Amino acid sequence: MTDSNFINDHINIAKDIKKRICPVCNHISEKVFDFFSQWIYGLAENEDIQKENADAHGLCPFHSWQLVAVGSPLGISKGYGKLIRQIANELLKSSETQVKAVVTLNSLINGAKDCRVCIIMRKEESFYISKMLNFLTVEENRRLYSASGGLCLRHLQIVLMEITDMEVVRFLMTEAAKHFAAIADEMDSYSWKRKTSQKHLLTKAEKDAYLRGIIHAVGGRQSCNQFQ
Ligand SMILES: [Zn+2]
Ligand SMILES: [Zn+2]
Repeated sequence: MTDSNFINDHINIAKDIKKRICPVCNHISEKVFDFFSQWIYGLAENEDIQKENADAHGLCPFHSWQLVAVGSPLGISKGYGKLIRQIANELLKSSETQVKAVVTLNSLINGAKDCRVCIIMRKEESFYISKMLNFLTVEENRRLYSASGGLCLRHLQIVLMEITDMEVVRFLMTEAAKHFAAIADEMDSYSWKRKTSQKHLLTKAEKDAYLRGIIHAVGGRQSCNQFQ
């Protein structure tokens, strides 16, 4: 299983943006889900994958906890035993000097730079953003974007850094302001209907506005990990 398995060209931005959440965050989230769906089984049953994981010192803390959330005690016991035993061996071999001990300890904790899931996320993010930049060059596509929920602030910033056409920059900033204002209106409406006992009149958009507000302000749950 290589990282390139997770890059594919079957991207349909016109369809993706109808979901009203940041399409880049959504794409990354789907790819991480695809990875875990395949990898968890291999990790529990395949010794080569267990050894590969042990040699790579596992995942970063964020994705290790995600593995715990989606895996089972039996699967993780079978799959992670080699890594935990390898840590015991490496600790024993590094006890001669303080410097060696510190260097070894440092190498045993993976950050986002070396975590295989974080690496997939970075590749998928830049791949999807390159497609998004192409998408936005077409006027008809910009009309579709205008009717969508738009990008989160994090991905808007990355996209804007690649755009030189000031007309498109203004368009994206104005759309972002419009999207945020619409979400704030839906959040207000949600609060008002709850306060006035009109819960039965709540729309789907009002019910999930708080979540879209957070995603658009700070990025999806997966994307936040890249700030580590
Ligand atoms: Zn995003
Ligand atoms: Zn990670």
